[in-house]
Amino acid sequence: MGDFRFFRPTALEELLDFKAREGSKARILDGGSNVLVYIKEGSIPGGTLVDVKFLETIKGIQVRDGRVEIGAGELIANIMESPLIEKQVPFLRDVLQKFANPLVRNMATLAGNIADSSPIGDTIPPLMVLRAEVVVASTKGTRAIPLEEFFTGPGKNVLKPEEVILKVHFPIPKQGSGGHIKLGLRRGTSCSVASVAVWVVAVKNKVEDIRIALGGVAPTPIRAPKTESAFKGQSLEPDRIAELSERVMEEISPISDVRGSAEYRRQVSARLLAKAVRQALGMEE
Ligand SMILES: Cc1cc2nc3c(=O)[nH]c(=O)nc-3n(C[C@H](O)[C@H](O)[C@H](O)COP(=O)(O)OP(=O)(O)OC[C@H]3O[C@@H](n4cnc5c(N)ncnc54)[C@H](O)[C@@H]3O)c2cc1C
Repeated sequence: MGDFRFFRPTALEELLDFKAREGSKARILDGGSNVLVYIKEGSIPGGTLVDVKFLETIKGIQVRDGRVEIGAGELIANIMESPLIEKQVPFLRDVLQKFANPLVRNMATLAGNIADSSPIGDTIPPLMVLRAEVVVASTKGTRAIPLEEFFTGPGKNVLKPEEVILKVHFPIPKQGSGGHIKLGLRRGTSCSVASVAVWVVAVKNKVEDIRIALGGVAPTPIRAPKTESAFKGQSLEPDRIAELSERVMEEISPISDVRGSAEYRRQVSARLLAKAVRQALGMEE
């Protein structure tokens, strides 16, 4: 195991000053459900673990200027159980019920899931279809990054060494409904093999707008803009949904790994998409 120091800032300014000085040598530790595994594996060489678990400025769930704002340090369990989320975006609550298990949901944070930047991070496709932005800060100021521009590769993103995630926000959905399917290798605690989230605005089953995001089928979570275009203006009967969903196979570049082959992921993605669209339209049980 590498040589580690520990630092617990008591205010955001202290955290940002420390990050400005230490950069990537200062590794943020939130719930630790990823970081502690990486330390044990030896994939983090050493440095300072910066514990932000008690930093109130990166917590809280609220509505401001027509947007839902979720603090970076909010636990998955708290987001799921938030009355505000239940009222404004029950879709997100339903999706998070598929995240790991209660034990992990009580450790894992939203920022940890996003900053870890895994292609199978479960919060990412649903937040992408909600048009989420990641608000990050450094001593130089803050910036908002659309979630779909945040990831650059497996475990990689556009965060600068001196930046930290403050919160995630997205507009309160005024119309439409969501669908989400996560395929794991078993029913209980299980990482995604692939997952699909959709947000559909339809009038009498005719699509006015659709956003589609997928996890586990490319080096990063992705939107599927060509498939979205194919769906727009179409009347959605179950056969037509299945046919249009096949287009997504052209937009993904899955890999083979222990959880499934590339070809399996390609085929299954079209099925998952069709199911998610049907779910959003209330056609699924
Ligand atoms: C048994 C088990 C089951 C799991 N199941 C799932 C699952 O079903 N779905 C899923 O998506 N994931 C799953 N995970 C992965 C993990 O739980 C999540 O990615 C979790 O959200 C990480 O949050 P954390 O607070 O524990 O992050 P940490 O481990 O504390 O941090 C993760 C990364 O984020 C960085 N970071 C944290 N906060 C910030 C911040 N504010 N600003 C900048 N960088 C920050 C850290 O430096 C680190 O690089 C599982 C993990 C385990 C151990």
